[in-house]
Amino acid sequence: MASSSRLPVIGVIGAGTMGSGIALVALSAGAQVILQDTYAPVLAKADAYIKKFLEKKDKSALYANLTLTESLDDFARAEVVIEAAPERLELKQELFAKLDAVCATEAILATNTSTLSVTAVAATTKHPARVAGMHFFNPAPVLPLVEVVRAAQSSPATVEALVALAEALGKTPVVTGDTPGFIVNRVARPFYGEALRLLGERVAGFEDIDRLVEQGAGFRMGPFRLMDLIGIDINAGAMRSMYEQTYNEPRYRPHWIQMQKLAAGELGRKTGKGFYEYKDGEKGKDEGGGMKDEGGRGEGSLLISSGSFAPGLAELAVKAGFTMSHELSGRPVAAFVAAGRSQGAAAIVAAWDAALEPSVPLLVQGADITLSEVRSWVQHPQRVAVFDGLFLDGALVTASGPAELQAQVAALFASLGRQLVWVAESPALVLPRIVCQLINEASFAVLEGVAEGDTIDLAMKLGVNYPRGLLEWGAQLGWERVLAVLDHLYAEYHEERYRASVLLRRWARG
Ligand code: NAD
Repeated sequence: MASSSRLPVIGVIGAGTMGSGIALVALSAGAQVILQDTYAPVLAKADAYIKKFLEKKDKSALYANLTLTESLDDFARAEVVIEAAPERLELKQELFAKLDAVCATEAILATNTSTLSVTAVAATTKHPARVAGMHFFNPAPVLPLVEVVRAAQSSPATVEALVALAEALGKTPVVTGDTPGFIVNRVARPFYGEALRLLGERVAGFEDIDRLVEQGAGFRMGPFRLMDLIGIDINAGAMRSMYEQTYNEPRYRPHWIQMQKLAAGELGRKTGKGFYEYKDGEKGKDEGGGMKDEGGRGEGSLLISSGSFAPGLAELAVKAGFTMSHELSGRPVAAFVAAGRSQGAAAIVAAWDAALEPSVPLLVQGADITLSEVRSWVQHPQRVAVFDGLFLDGALVTASGPAELQAQVAALFASLGRQLVWVAESPALVLPRIVCQLINEASFAVLEGVAEGDTIDLAMKLGVNYPRGLLEWGAQLGWERVLAVLDHLYAEYHEERYRASVLLRRWARG
């Protein structure tokens, strides 16, 4: 490979979405690029896109560094090859075997595969030590992250060279092991998988789940909006590939809703319909509202129990103008149980139900306790609702409870400056379920040596714009609370899918 003072000559296989983007990134950094595709119209389209982009950036001179070709023979002078052909293992293996014959033995061969085994690709070459993964994110010219994937055979020099190349191209590289989905595509699986299950179990509509994820937890895009953007076929393909490669790990099980969308040809934005409908370039309706306000209309006293599953609730209540009570005296406007299961929630709920007038709503945090369970503890089940106390920071808060109570409870939360989204009963509601299962997945990735925690956090922020690193988030929520959510899901579903990683359990012990 070239010395650090000069960028290597880069060959790119496939001039589709990723190949054309990678070629543009390399050209923009000043590299010589050979872009190859077997389909001439794609090459012409990539050519026009690259030319226009370079012109717009006042970099037209760099266009002279681009060679377009339909033949791999032109890769004889390439020092690094990045393959971005379709996601089929046999095709990639065939291409790498051909590259072996065409390229100089010191050339580095990289694949941009999202989920396939880089080790299996490398195995088809005579010099597998020079093969590794170089996984860009879509759109390559915009997203800063590159995963450099260490195959079983990759030499340290190959990995180092690709890390240096990614940096020279202005990207942020992270090194990951060659396990299915690497870091980002693996750790992000529950974002889609849990959202699909919530929809499939009719807990909430997809628009409400998206709104909660965006305005309740701060993600830039909800799972359904994002699946529509990525393409439901691509997303389902990644899910299926992960599931098969891990011998049917239940956390990655594809969902029938995705398969039904595939069968209907509703693939997202590119077909004009996915979960949302898109008319003439419309970007999918963006739900307005849901802005967090300051509240400040509270009158009377709120009873709030001890316990740590509704952090910030007491501050919100005081800020809104309520007085606070920790005693069963007087007549509170509402009684909040912030305690978790292991913090004596059941005893508090039963005692308060017996002591308070039945017209006082009893609002219980629902991260590790479900609605029907709380109802079974009380004499007056119609006064009970559960709410998501772990995500009170957001503008939207999830709640579940009887229709008769909803207006009263919604008004109460409105005076705390929070809008409620009512959902059907569901273990761990919406956000604790999605976010804690994401955190669990990140802890599994650390446990299995895919990468260190800091690297995983960085990758999720840069690769898919997560508002926080997941391990940072887990520490903030409290490991014991994350574990309580997962154990609750496990107890309710009896599914291996919700088993907490042993590492997370260890962290929860402190
Ligand atoms: P794409 O379909 O847009 O492009 C693939 C291109 O490869 C097409 O232009 C096709 O004509 C060409 N091609 C097919 N057979 C070929 C051959 N034998 N030799 C040379 N070219 C050939 O696909 P894409 O979305 O750019 O994905 C390419 C790779 O990048 C896949 O491995 C995919 O998993 C990975 N990837 C995709 C994304 C994404 O969001 N699209 C993100 C990261 C990684």
